[in-house]
Amino acid sequence: MDIMIETPIIPGQGETIMGQGVKLLPGGKGANQAVAASRLGLPTSFIGAVGEDTFGQQMQQELNRHSIHQSLNIMPEVKTGVASIWIHDQDNRIVVIPGANGEITWSDIERQHALIDQADVVLLQLEIPLETVVKSIKYAYDKGKKIILNPAPARELPEEVYPMLHTITPNRQELSILAGMPELMETDDQSTLHIAMKRMIEKGLPSITVTLGSKGMVYMNKSGNCFHVPGKKVDVVDTTGAGDCFNAALAVSVARGWEMKRAAEYAVAASALAVTKFGAQNGMPSEEEVTAYLT
Ligand code: ATP
Repeated sequence: MDIMIETPIIPGQGETIMGQGVKLLPGGKGANQAVAASRLGLPTSFIGAVGEDTFGQQMQQELNRHSIHQSLNIMPEVKTGVASIWIHDQDNRIVVIPGANGEITWSDIERQHALIDQADVVLLQLEIPLETVVKSIKYAYDKGKKIILNPAPARELPEEVYPMLHTITPNRQELSILAGMPELMETDDQSTLHIAMKRMIEKGLPSITVTLGSKGMVYMNKSGNCFHVPGKKVDVVDTTGAGDCFNAALAVSVARGWEMKRAAEYAVAASALAVTKFGAQNGMPSEEEVTAYLT
């Protein structure tokens, strides 16, 4: 649950101030991506965890409202994960408490393996323990699933998982961590970006898909195929959840059997529409909206 607080100043130590507004918005990368995938028209299942509290109930209601086949582990001993977001002068400061998300284990997921068995594509993020993600990837790989990993928030990954992935979807900052190239954050240079992507391919990845905010995305695979899809020019209202929409749209396209260029064009269009609306889950476009935008 995102608790968004608008404040006129950032309070100093021991200071109490009056804020300007508060919004409670369902969030979390996995839930946002599930909502987007469902809005884009494919049957979507979601495995996750919440606490036995009001936020947990609200998250379940939201997933139901979006027709997502959910399998949430309810963890009475911990709270639902929250992000406390202070917004001041178009800048934000965020404190995340993982709560139930930080406790989810492979056995919690394994109980729901039928959902993975039925899936065409399995889309994962790194907001749950890495060990759980790695075991989930191995299970899905053994079942022959196409696996997309959104490596956010970025963490070093065991290299054994790279060959199991269909693609990985870092933004520039996440790529700089995964590739061990901090210089990527200091330059817009295309060739440095390509070096970082090649470095990831050398780790065994079949392909890599890097999101570039308003500049769109760039893709590279191990056969040397590389392309760039420029970002769409839109009136930006709120970029929260743009990456989540991109990931969901890519997963939906791969599940439809589209080749990567077409999938990337669809994902760039969907995520451009997402930034024209306020809120992460609320801003996710429908299949009809994306199709209309592309024609
Ligand atoms: P976030 O964490 O803010 O959800 P991210 O850093 O994971 O996002 P971005 O690279 O910022 O991901 O955005 C994902 C995609 O969303 C981009 O590849 C692009 O297609 C689209 N997008 C993001 N910002 C804009 C923008 N200002 N205008 C048009 N499209 C955008």
